[in-house]
Amino acid sequence: QNYCKPTGQIHDACCDYETVESVNEELFGRLHDLVATPYFRYHKVDLAKECPYWEEDGSCMNRACSVETTGEDHIPEAWRSSALGKLNETSAWKTSSPAGCTEISDSDFCVLEDELDSEGVYVDLLENPERFTGYAGPSSSRVWKAIYEENCFTPVPFVDASRSTFEGGSGFAPVSSGFGGLASGMGGMGGMGGGLAAGGWGESEKRLLGSLAGPRDPDEEVCLEKRVFYRVISGLHASISVHICDDYLDQQTGEWAPNLDCFITRIGQHPERLENMYFTYVLLLRALSRSGPQLVRTLDATAGERETRDRLEQLVRVADGCPSTFDETSMFSGGKEAELLKSEFKDHFRNVSRIMDCVGCDKCRLWGKMQITGLGTALKLLFSYDGATPLASPTDDPTAAPHAVALSRSELVAFVNTLHRLSESLAAVDRFRTLWAHRGEPA
Ligand code: FAD
Repeated sequence: QNYCKPTGQIHDACCDYETVESVNEELFGRLHDLVATPYFRYHKVDLAKECPYWEEDGSCMNRACSVETTGEDHIPEAWRSSALGKLNETSAWKTSSPAGCTEISDSDFCVLEDELDSEGVYVDLLENPERFTGYAGPSSSRVWKAIYEENCFTPVPFVDASRSTFEGGSGFAPVSSGFGGLASGMGGMGGMGGGLAAGGWGESEKRLLGSLAGPRDPDEEVCLEKRVFYRVISGLHASISVHICDDYLDQQTGEWAPNLDCFITRIGQHPERLENMYFTYVLLLRALSRSGPQLVRTLDATAGERETRDRLEQLVRVADGCPSTFDETSMFSGGKEAELLKSEFKDHFRNVSRIMDCVGCDKCRLWGKMQITGLGTALKLLFSYDGATPLASPTDDPTAAPHAVALSRSELVAFVNTLHRLSESLAAVDRFRTLWAHRGEPA
């Protein structure tokens, strides 16, 4: 029996599940240590921004939704507003780094926040872990719906769990071995996201799929870029679900513990979600191995401590020695049409980043915003680099390297923490497999 243990090639990636899992074994511990350093644990975020799309009145009142903020006096001096303000006046930060900008630069896949924003608050990420908060119902449903239906390129089946029996599922049957049921590519799935498993959809989801597809030719192929967009969002959604189930509050006993039923219902019964989660990790890994030196330069230019730098360098070195996981050169290649597609891709991703201000639970908003920034940073690293020009650091003269991108501290912090979130999700899936296999056995 195969308890959620996929094998073989990951669609749209250039590696298999086994390789990704062995890479994760190498990286997880290092990432875990890295995100505990002061540089990576303090993140500045504006949690008070208004939702630009609808009136969000469903603010989550659960205690678990609240975020503990940290006063600037706890933050290393170099990153306080006063120090950053001086930097902004005197160095190339002003023009080359998104850290002082209110407009989106062409290379950005996200709407980035100004690190000098007076509304922004510092949050200690270790003190505010991503976990079950109880945020659910119409508010969270609306956010996911807006992301999938309005911002993914193709109509994607969205089933409001509160109106469907789909999520409830019948029985917790283990996933069939080797993901044999995965539809390869897009054929036959009404032009939906890549590699969706026919076996993963319930009847109501399939019906909705049919109605959403509208006039679209059901056999229409969806290009790699559009599949990648959907898979990254779905993979992030799956990772959030894994964290919810892994750190779940039993409301009867008041204890936090992994919840196997939650995992089976949200992930175990949907192999395509699990595959998308692996895919998202693969994309982040590629950004890490490809842009290692750029990450280290950003840390140097933004007052990273010596010890943190050593840890980051070690991580980059290990990632460098791993097999390649994703071929970014296969995307956005081919003249004018590709350029157009890239700009559409960016617009959609920026919209998703704006939607994060509509999340009605502070803790979920914090992690949602941070991870969308982390993914946007990965996309920027993969697709803003023309292959010939070395990537700039924030202190480089921007006019000297017109095609290079610069990263801010916030982007680096978001990227590394997002990588860690996905890495931890893979490790949690492994623990859930064991729990599932031993279910019913005496303790
Ligand atoms: P949801 O997860 O809300 O999913 C809605 C529908 O989307 C499902 O019915 C299904 O049709 C589809 N779907 C589900 N997963 C996938 C997938 N991986 N790929 C494609 N389609 C999918 N809650 C917390 O407790 N802690 C958090 O930290 C947290 N963070 C959040 C961050 C964001 C940005 C958002 C929008 C919500 C967050 N939530 C969090 C809420 C959480 O994601 C769920 O919305 C909530 O638990 C209700 O879950 P659900 O079972 O109704 O389905």
